[in-house]
Amino acid sequence: MSGEQKVVIVTGSTGLVGSAVQIVAKKEQRPDEKWVFLSSKDGNLRNIEEARAIFKKHSPTHVINLAAKVGGLFSNMKYGCDFLRTNMEINQNVLQVSHETGVKKVISCMSTCIFPDKTTYPIDETMVHNGPPHPSNYGYSMAKRMIDVMNRTYHDQYGCMFTSAIPTNVYGPYDNYNLEDGHVLTGLIHKIYLAKKNNTPFTIWGSGKPRRQFIYSLDLARLLIWAIREYNDVNPILLCVDEEDEVSIKELAEMVVEETGFKGSVTHDLTKADGQFKKTASNAKLRSYLPDFKFTPIRQGIRETVEWFAANYETARK
Ligand code: NAP
Ligand code: GDP
Repeated sequence: MSGEQKVVIVTGSTGLVGSAVQIVAKKEQRPDEKWVFLSSKDGNLRNIEEARAIFKKHSPTHVINLAAKVGGLFSNMKYGCDFLRTNMEINQNVLQVSHETGVKKVISCMSTCIFPDKTTYPIDETMVHNGPPHPSNYGYSMAKRMIDVMNRTYHDQYGCMFTSAIPTNVYGPYDNYNLEDGHVLTGLIHKIYLAKKNNTPFTIWGSGKPRRQFIYSLDLARLLIWAIREYNDVNPILLCVDEEDEVSIKELAEMVVEETGFKGSVTHDLTKADGQFKKTASNAKLRSYLPDFKFTPIRQGIRETVEWFAANYETARK
């Protein structure tokens, strides 16, 4: 972005991804950009009048739309309808009010879990609507796919530049460490923290065989800020590490064990679901724009996240 003053609002900026966007945007502040960081305390985006009031107050020219109901496999299996309704409502309202107020660009987040369950690999941006998603996160996935449908219809009917990013599994500081609702890495870190404290075994849920591509929240933040400045295509863009950096849940757990110095016993609870086996995605499109982008090595990201959790145990979401 260059030229006239931009007002970038970031919805959901108190969450995992939004906190990282705050850190990076403040560090890389540009004179022609004013950043406004919002959370649910500034208004409930499920309510269109509250969304209108937020946009009236800040007059954004650009929106990074991160507000969402987000959770791990087990939360998605339990609350599919809530994931569907909440995310449909937030995204409908944010995009409609952006249209009404003439916002120049919106980037919203989808996720790699929304791709068809039965697919060829690697997954790419053209495959979003090719078949039903994995049944474990049907509600969330269908709500997220509608972002792409809305972006295209707002573009075709009204000429809006509304687009989307597709991150793989994200991790980092400020995540939700709730054992029932959170994602795998927060679950592993929190369970090891408790196992060390209470001298009890550490249990990995499921077989540990599923594979995931993890992206550090601060890397994702750098990419989202690049996208709101430079990416002008309604079609989505996958934001993820290289395919060879995919790891199994077992390998992930081993890294957390090493980074926490846990010496106790490690077990698997095979009564717990494995979820989707893999959702390996290609970052070829991203690399065509940013061939030299350096991702934080997963080991370093885990180390920083483990340290953050230990230092912020009392206040972390859990
Ligand atoms: P998160 O940590 O759960 O944060 C969610 C944010 O949304 C919070 O700031 C929350 O505000 C806000 N929010 C929730 N409901 C709201 C409402 N009704 N009105 C206004 N604000 C509301 O989520 P995240 O992991 O950062 O996810 C950010 C985006 O990335 C989401 O679109 C998500 O689908 C996508 N994504 C995440 C992952 C992942 O692994 N985490 C992977 C792929 C894509 P409060 O703090 O005030 O409640
Ligand atoms: P997903 O990538 O959308 O499936 O979501 P998650 O981040 O919740 O990862 C789920 C995978 O991690 C499944 O294979 C689970 O069996 C496995 N897993 C192992 N331990 C945990 C844990 O403590 N919490 C969660 N959420 N998943 C775990």
